[in-house]
Amino acid sequence: MSELIRLDDVTRRYRTAAGTVVAVDAVSLALRRGDLVGLIGPSGSGKTTILNLILGWEQPDDGTVTTHVEPSGWSGVAVIPQELGLLPELSARENIELAGRLGGGLRADAVETLGSMGLGELVDRFPDELSMGEQQRVAVARAVAMRPTLLVADEPTAHQDERHADLVIDQLAIVANDGGAVIVATHDARLLDRVGSAIQVLDGRIVSTTWSNP
Ligand code: ADP
Repeated sequence: MSELIRLDDVTRRYRTAAGTVVAVDAVSLALRRGDLVGLIGPSGSGKTTILNLILGWEQPDDGTVTTHVEPSGWSGVAVIPQELGLLPELSARENIELAGRLGGGLRADAVETLGSMGLGELVDRFPDELSMGEQQRVAVARAVAMRPTLLVADEPTAHQDERHADLVIDQLAIVANDGGAVIVATHDARLLDRVGSAIQVLDGRIVSTTWSNP
C-alpha cells in the first residue's frame, strides 16, 4: 500500500467569540510514497490547519483522516514547523542528534546533512549564534536526516536566499526520492517549480490541483 495519508471530506471549524470559522472545508487529498506536494494559498486559507490534521495534531469535525505511516509516531514522521522549534541549549548538531535519539535513529549523518546546506562550519553553534536563515536550515536538517516516511514542512524556505532555498529544496527532494511523502506549505515559486503536484487552497477549500510530473 503506497498511500500513506488520506483525508476524505475533512472539515475543521473553530468557534470564536465572533462566530464559527470554517478553517478547512470538505478537503480530500492523499499522499503517497515518493510524493513531493506543494500546498499553496494566501494567509488564512487553511494550510496550517490541513498540515495539523495530516499530523493528527488536530481532529476533523467532519470527514475522516486515514493514516498508514509506518513506523508510526515520531520515528516515521518529521516536521519543519514555521517556528522551527530548535532547543536553545543545544548546538545545531545536538539538536539533530537529539531528534534522532527520540525518533529511533538518524538515517543520514547530522554533520553531513548540515554541510550539504552550507552549515558545515557552524555545526557547534547554538541557535542564538545563527541567523534566522541558518536556524531554519538546521530545522530542515533535523527533519530530513531522519529520512522520515512522512515529512510535513511549513514554509521551509521563508528565510532563505536563492542559493540556500535551492539547497533546502534539494534536501526535501532527497526524502521524496528515498520513498518518503513530503507535503510543503509554501508561497515560494522556486519550490513550486520543483514539486510533483501543487494543491491550491482558498477559504479552506481545494480550488485546484496541478501535476508537473507525468
Ligand atoms: P494558513 O496556514 O493558510 O495561514 P490557517 O490554517 O492558520 O491558515 O487558518 C485558517 C483559518 O482558521 C483562518 O481564518 C484562521 O484565522 C482560523 N484559525 C486558525 N486557527 C484558529 C484557532 N485556533 N482558533 C480560531 N480560528 C483559527
